[in-house]
Amino acid sequence: MRQLFNKIYNGTLENYKSYLENRLIENKKTFVVTANPEAFMIAEKDKEYKKLLMDDVTEIVPDGIGLVKACKKLKVDVTERVPGIELAEGLLVSANKYGKKLYLFGAKQEVIDEMKKYISENFSNINLVGTQNGYVNDKESVFDDIVKLKPDIVLVALGMPLQEKLIYNNLSKFKKGIFIGVGGSFDVMSGMKKRAPKIFIKLNLEWLYRICKEPSRIKRFWNNNVKFLLNVKKYK
Ligand code: UDP
Repeated sequence: MRQLFNKIYNGTLENYKSYLENRLIENKKTFVVTANPEAFMIAEKDKEYKKLLMDDVTEIVPDGIGLVKACKKLKVDVTERVPGIELAEGLLVSANKYGKKLYLFGAKQEVIDEMKKYISENFSNINLVGTQNGYVNDKESVFDDIVKLKPDIVLVALGMPLQEKLIYNNLSKFKKGIFIGVGGSFDVMSGMKKRAPKIFIKLNLEWLYRICKEPSRIKRFWNNNVKFLLNVKKYK
C-alpha cells in the first residue's frame, strides 16, 4: 500500500489540468484514477484493483480530502485535492478549444440527456461522438463500440471499482485518448444533482454536504473514510 501512496500526484489542480490538455493535444493515451480513501480500501481486498492502480500506465490523483489527510499523516508529499469533476470540466473546456471527440459512458439516461444539452449549449465545438447510459447489462461490449469511434476523451461514470476496471481492461485497444472514471460527476455536471456550495468545497467539507443530502452514504463514509484515517499509520 505504501507504494500506492508514493504514486499519488503531488502538484496543483491547475497544473494537472494543463498537463491533461497537453496530453490531449499530443494524442497521448492517458488513464487517470481520481482516488479517494475508498479506492485504497478496495485495493486492500481486491487484487485486480490493486494491480491496475500499481500499473505504470495508471496515474493517480488525490480526489477526496481523506486521502490528502492520510498522505500528510504518512509524510507523503501531496499538494491539494484534484477532484475528478474538475478534471472532467477542464477537459470539456480543452476539448471545446481544440474541437476534440468526446464519449460519455455511465449514469442514468436522463442524466446523459441533460449532459448532451449542457455540452451543446456550452461547448458547441466539442464533437460528442457517442453516449451510453450506465445501466446496460453488457458493459464490457460498450467498449467495442467506443474503440471504433476513436474518441479523444472517454469519461466513465459508473462508480469505483467498475469504471476503472473497465477502462484498464480495454485500454490496450486504444491508440490515444484521455480516460477517467468520474463517479457521480455527470449527475452534478448535468445539473441533476447539486454540488456542495463553494464554502463547503473551500473548507474541505464537501463530504459533509454529500452525507447531509444523502444520509444513506453515512455507512459508506464510515467504512471507507473514518476507518481508513484511523488505521492509516499501518501504511507507514
Ligand atoms: N451508475 C451507473 N450504473 C450502475 C451503477 C451506477 O451508471 O450500474 C452511476 C450512477 O448513476 C452514478 C455513478 O454511477 O452516476 C456513481 O455515482 P456515485 O455518486 O456513487 O459515485 P462517487 O462520486 O461517490 O464515486
